Amino acid sequence: MSLDHLWAGWRMPYIESAGSGPPSHDAEGCVLCRLAAATDDREAMVLARTGHMFVVMNAYPYTSGHIMVAPLEHVADLDAISREAAGELTELLQTAVRAVRAAYQPAGFNVGANLGAAAGAGIPGHLHFHVLPRWGGDTNFMTSIADARVLPEAIGASFEKLRAVWPS
Ligand SMILES: [Zn+2]
Repeated sequence: MSLDHLWAGWRMPYIESAGSGPPSHDAEGCVLCRLAAATDDREAMVLARTGHMFVVMNAYPYTSGHIMVAPLEHVADLDAISREAAGELTELLQTAVRAVRAAYQPAGFNVGANLGAAAGAGIPGHLHFHVLPRWGGDTNFMTSIADARVLPEAIGASFEKLRAVWPS
């Protein structure tokens, strides 16, 4: 294979923006806190709320159906949430997997959290777990990232799709 074949021009927009990443904070403060405080769940694309936790669509998805489970409170560390909140977290992750499975029939899932900026957390100050569907052969992370730039309209559709299967 010659070096020419390794060149992939479509990666450049991602590489060029990788330093800044998604805007985790804006003038109004923490994005997850703002979503947690939203009064219009459809507009905020919040799928569910419990006493301590909530479930929301990821505005910068790696793939369609990428959702996040986070505490309502601004807490960074997994070991800082209460046992009750941890129980709700686990139940919501189970419900999220069930809903994504029903809506997308994926071959597998990525479920997990990045704790701290060094671990790749997009919003390091506010704990959040990712749930995203995966399919066989869907291994090109860079393509997924690049596709994220054309997904905004699709996120609303993903929200409606997941809302329809989310148990009430
Ligand atoms: Zn927050």
